[in-house]
Amino acid sequence: MIKPIDNFIDYGALSADDRKAMVETQLVPRGIKDPNVLDAFMNVPRECFVIEEYLKSAYDDCPLPIIENQTISQPYMVAVMTELLELSDEDLSAGVKILEIGTGAGYQAAILAHMGCRVASVERIPKVADFAVINLKKVPYGQRVEVYVGDGTEGWPEEAPFDGIIVTAASPKIPTALLQQLKVGRKLVIPCGNLMVQQLLQVVKLPNDIRINRHTGCRFVPLIGKDGFQE
Ligand code: SAH
Repeated sequence: MIKPIDNFIDYGALSADDRKAMVETQLVPRGIKDPNVLDAFMNVPRECFVIEEYLKSAYDDCPLPIIENQTISQPYMVAVMTELLELSDEDLSAGVKILEIGTGAGYQAAILAHMGCRVASVERIPKVADFAVINLKKVPYGQRVEVYVGDGTEGWPEEAPFDGIIVTAASPKIPTALLQQLKVGRKLVIPCGNLMVQQLLQVVKLPNDIRINRHTGCRFVPLIGKDGFQE
């Protein structure tokens, strides 16, 4: 049974300082620069996206367990991935469309929505998708996020093409369908590797090719599906 957090408003009133500390100690010193990303982290109440047991840890420098053995990613990892989409002010005021694979708690989607993006987010586990929908209802920009239950390794063809794609689960390879659904010149951000360790890749779609920029090492829960790991 998923329990919505009903005392988030009280806690949220206190959490502006926590967000400021998170930005100043976890994000800026590690090189996050994009003002739109930093602004979203200053404002999105992370306590609305964690389970009750971890409310007090909402701003800690680590991933946290949610339900169904899944996690809400470490704030720094969410920030790096968001920054690697390289969205301009013009993109954000136009409300570009981003595909997220692995909705989880909905926090990454909320960060993108706060920045001005429209977000199409695919989650494999129905109960986790419900959890995200409940969480996203707590913030007004949550309305810009659509959650769909399915195998995200196949993308979301009906909503394509996208101005950016972010995969928040570990993948053994770059799923072909995702590249097909990305606009030329745009970026796919994905942790690729084995089940134990991955490397964060920024894949740039070129007219007839791709360019891969390699970033930090990381460890995500597995992307399970047709073009991911097998169950
Ligand atoms: N972005 C999330 C964290 C995601 S954790 C946040 O901000 O909190 C990774 C999620 O990917 C899990 O919820 C898991 O169920 C989901 N997942 C794994 N394989 C998937 C697939 N093939 N399609 C969609 N979601 C998948």
